[in-house]
Amino acid sequence: MNRDEKLLQNYHEVITALSTAARKSGRLPDEITLLAVTKYAKDQDVLFFLERGLIKHVGESRLQQAQARWQNPLFAKFSTVKHFIGHLQKNKAAKAALLFDFIDSLDDIQTARILNQFTPSEKTLRVLVQVKLTDRETQSGLSLKDARLLAKELSQFPRLKACGYMAIAPQGASPAELREKFATLKRAFDEDFPPSAERYLSLGMSQDFIIAVEEGSNLPRIGSRLFAENLEEA
Ligand SMILES: *Cc1c(COP(=O)(O)O)cnc(C)c1O
Repeated sequence: MNRDEKLLQNYHEVITALSTAARKSGRLPDEITLLAVTKYAKDQDVLFFLERGLIKHVGESRLQQAQARWQNPLFAKFSTVKHFIGHLQKNKAAKAALLFDFIDSLDDIQTARILNQFTPSEKTLRVLVQVKLTDRETQSGLSLKDARLLAKELSQFPRLKACGYMAIAPQGASPAELREKFATLKRAFDEDFPPSAERYLSLGMSQDFIIAVEEGSNLPRIGSRLFAENLEEA
C-alpha cells in the first residue's frame, strides 16, 4: 500500500468505527462531526484529505503553527471550520479570535473577554468550555461545577457563542471509569445546552473515541489514528 492508500484506509476505519458507535448510542452517523486534529500531520497528508472533501473540521493546538498553515493560500482556499484545541494563553487570544471559528478549550473568563473584544464584528466565535476530568493540577480545564458557571457567564459576550463542553480523558483511567466520567458530563451537557441548539460535546481522541461517542460525544478529536499510524515507511 502506498501512503495515499494508507491514509484512505485510516479514514475509512475511523468513519466506520464512528458510525457503529453513533448507532450504539441511538444516533445517526451524520450526527457526529469528525474533528481532524492536524497538529502533528504533514502538510501533504492534510491536503490529501482536504482535496477529497473528506475533512472539514480541523483542530490545531499551537497558534503560530496554525497561522502559518491555514493562512497559506494552499490551505486557505479550502472552506474549513478551524478549532483551537490547545491551552490558550491570554497574550495569544487576540490572534486566535481572528484565525479560528471555534475555541474548544476555554477555561477562564478573562480570556473570554479578550476573545470577545478581538472577534471581528461580522463574526461569531463559537466556544466550548474545557472540563477537567481529573484532580491533577497539571491538566487544563475547570471542575464541572465551575465550567457550568463559566458557560452561563459567557452570555454577556455578544461575539461569543457557548456551544458546549470539551474534555480530555484522564490518563490511565479504565474503560469503565471513562464511561462514567463521560456519562456524567453528558448529563450536564444535556441540561445546559438544549438539543434544539447548535451544540457540541467534544470527548474522545484516537485512543478512546469509540467509548466517547457511545457515551454521547458528537465532536471526537482524532489525530494520530488518521495521520500517524502505519504511515512511517509509506
Ligand atoms: C493532540 C490532541 C488530540 C488528538 O490526539 P490523538 O491521540 O492524536 O488523536 C485531541 N485533543 C487534544 C486536546 C489534543 O491536544
